[in-house]
Amino acid sequence: MNDCIFCKIIAGDIPSNKVYEDDKILCFRDIAPMAPVHLLVIPKVHICSADCITEENADVIAHIFTTIPKIAKQEGISEDGYRIITNHGTNGRQSVKHLHFHILAGKLLPENMG
Ligand code: AMP
Repeated sequence: MNDCIFCKIIAGDIPSNKVYEDDKILCFRDIAPMAPVHLLVIPKVHICSADCITEENADVIAHIFTTIPKIAKQEGISEDGYRIITNHGTNGRQSVKHLHFHILAGKLLPENMG
Protein backbone atom coordinates (compact mmCIF):
# COMPACT_ATOMS: atom_id res chain seq x y z
CA MET A 1 0.00 0.00 0.00
CA ASN A 2 1.34 3.38 -1.05
CA ASP A 3 0.86 5.32 2.17
CA CYS A 4 1.66 2.48 4.59
CA ILE A 5 4.81 3.07 6.63
CA PHE A 6 5.38 -0.66 7.23
CA CYS A 7 4.99 -1.41 3.49
CA LYS A 8 7.69 1.24 2.94
CA ILE A 9 9.94 -0.51 5.49
CA ILE A 10 9.37 -3.83 3.69
CA ALA A 11 10.25 -2.16 0.36
CA GLY A 12 13.44 -0.71 1.91
CA ASP A 13 12.26 2.88 1.33
CA ILE A 14 12.37 3.55 5.10
CA PRO A 15 15.23 2.07 7.14
CA SER A 16 14.61 -0.36 9.99
CA ASN A 17 16.66 -2.15 12.57
CA LYS A 18 16.10 -5.63 11.16
CA VAL A 19 16.14 -8.70 13.41
CA TYR A 20 14.77 -11.39 11.08
CA GLU A 21 13.54 -11.59 7.50
CA ASP A 22 12.32 -14.26 5.12
CA ASP A 23 10.14 -14.26 2.01
CA LYS A 24 6.90 -13.85 3.99
CA ILE A 25 7.64 -11.81 7.11
CA LEU A 26 9.90 -9.17 8.61
CA CYS A 27 10.88 -8.53 12.23
CA PHE A 28 12.49 -5.27 13.32
CA ARG A 29 13.03 -3.24 16.49
CA ASP A 30 10.31 -0.79 17.51
CA ILE A 31 11.46 2.81 17.11
CA ALA A 32 9.96 3.76 20.52
CA PRO A 33 10.63 0.71 22.70
CA MET A 34 8.30 0.09 25.66
CA ALA A 35 10.52 -2.63 27.12
CA PRO A 36 14.24 -3.50 26.96
CA VAL A 37 13.38 -5.76 24.01
CA HIS A 38 10.56 -4.49 21.78
CA LEU A 39 10.22 -6.14 18.38
CA LEU A 40 7.56 -5.89 15.69
CA VAL A 41 6.75 -8.86 13.48
CA ILE A 42 4.85 -8.06 10.30
CA PRO A 43 3.61 -9.95 7.24
CA LYS A 44 5.06 -8.68 3.95
CA VAL A 45 1.60 -8.78 2.44
CA HIS A 46 -0.51 -5.81 3.57
CA ILE A 47 -3.12 -6.96 6.09
CA CYS A 48 -4.87 -4.09 7.89
CA SER A 49 -4.96 -5.63 11.39
CA ALA A 50 -5.95 -8.79 13.27
CA ASP A 51 -9.51 -7.89 12.27
CA CYS A 52 -8.56 -8.47 8.62
CA ILE A 53 -7.31 -12.04 9.09
CA THR A 54 -9.21 -14.48 6.85
CA GLU A 55 -8.96 -18.08 5.64
CA GLU A 56 -7.22 -16.67 2.54
CA ASN A 57 -4.35 -14.97 4.41
CA ALA A 58 -4.16 -17.28 7.44
CA ASP A 59 -1.03 -19.09 6.18
CA VAL A 60 1.20 -16.10 6.89
CA ILE A 61 -0.28 -15.80 10.39
CA ALA A 62 0.64 -19.41 11.10
CA HIS A 63 4.11 -18.68 9.72
CA ILE A 64 4.48 -15.68 12.03
CA PHE A 65 3.59 -17.79 15.06
CA THR A 66 5.91 -20.65 14.14
CA THR A 67 8.75 -18.19 13.53
CA ILE A 68 8.34 -16.14 16.72
CA PRO A 69 9.91 -18.91 18.88
CA LYS A 70 12.95 -18.91 16.56
CA ILE A 71 13.25 -15.12 16.81
CA ALA A 72 12.85 -15.36 20.59
CA LYS A 73 15.66 -17.91 20.77
CA GLN A 74 17.86 -15.68 18.59
CA GLU A 75 17.14 -12.71 20.90
CA GLY A 76 17.74 -14.78 24.06
CA ILE A 77 14.29 -14.08 25.52
CA SER A 78 12.76 -17.58 25.40
CA GLU A 79 13.67 -18.64 28.90
CA ASP A 80 12.67 -15.50 30.82
CA GLY A 81 9.58 -14.98 28.70
CA TYR A 82 7.90 -12.44 26.51
CA ARG A 83 4.50 -10.98 25.67
CA ILE A 84 2.89 -10.85 22.20
CA ILE A 85 0.42 -8.01 21.59
CA THR A 86 -1.53 -6.87 18.56
CA ASN A 87 -3.80 -3.82 18.49
CA HIS A 88 -6.84 -3.21 16.28
CA GLY A 89 -8.73 0.02 15.71
CA THR A 90 -9.26 3.13 17.78
CA ASN A 91 -10.06 1.51 21.12
CA GLY A 92 -7.16 -0.89 20.63
CA ARG A 93 -4.92 2.17 19.98
CA GLN A 94 -3.66 0.81 16.67
CA SER A 95 -1.51 3.59 15.18
CA VAL A 96 -0.08 1.77 12.13
CA LYS A 97 -2.72 0.17 9.94
CA HIS A 98 -0.61 -2.81 8.86
CA LEU A 99 -0.93 -5.95 10.99
CA HIS A 100 1.94 -6.20 13.46
CA PHE A 101 2.68 -8.25 16.52
CA HIS A 102 4.59 -6.52 19.30
CA ILE A 103 7.03 -8.77 21.16
CA LEU A 104 7.92 -7.28 24.54
CA ALA A 105 10.59 -8.74 26.78
CA GLY A 106 13.66 -8.08 28.89
CA LYS A 107 11.87 -7.25 32.16
CA LEU A 108 8.91 -8.36 34.25
CA LEU A 109 6.06 -6.76 32.31
CA PRO A 110 3.14 -4.94 33.99
CA GLU A 111 0.29 -7.14 35.21
CA ASN A 112 -2.40 -4.72 34.06
CA MET A 113 -3.36 -5.17 30.38
CA GLY A 114 -5.91 -2.41 30.20
P1 AMP B 1 0.49 0.21 17.26
O1 AMP B 1 0.29 1.40 18.15
O2 AMP B 1 0.07 -1.09 17.86
O3 AMP B 1 -0.12 0.44 15.90
O4 AMP B 1 2.05 0.06 17.08
C1 AMP B 1 2.79 0.72 16.10
C2 AMP B 1 4.21 0.67 16.54
O5 AMP B 1 5.02 0.99 15.43
C3 AMP B 1 4.55 1.66 17.65
O6 AMP B 1 5.05 0.95 18.78
C4 AMP B 1 5.61 2.55 17.01
O7 AMP B 1 6.62 2.94 17.93
C5 AMP B 1 6.15 1.66 15.92
N1 AMP B 1 6.75 2.34 14.78
C6 AMP B 1 6.20 3.35 14.05
N2 AMP B 1 7.05 3.72 13.05
C7 AMP B 1 8.13 2.91 13.16
C8 AMP B 1 9.35 2.80 12.42
N3 AMP B 1 9.62 3.58 11.36
N4 AMP B 1 10.25 1.87 12.81
C9 AMP B 1 9.99 1.07 13.87
N5 AMP B 1 8.86 1.12 14.60
C10 AMP B 1 7.95 2.04 14.25
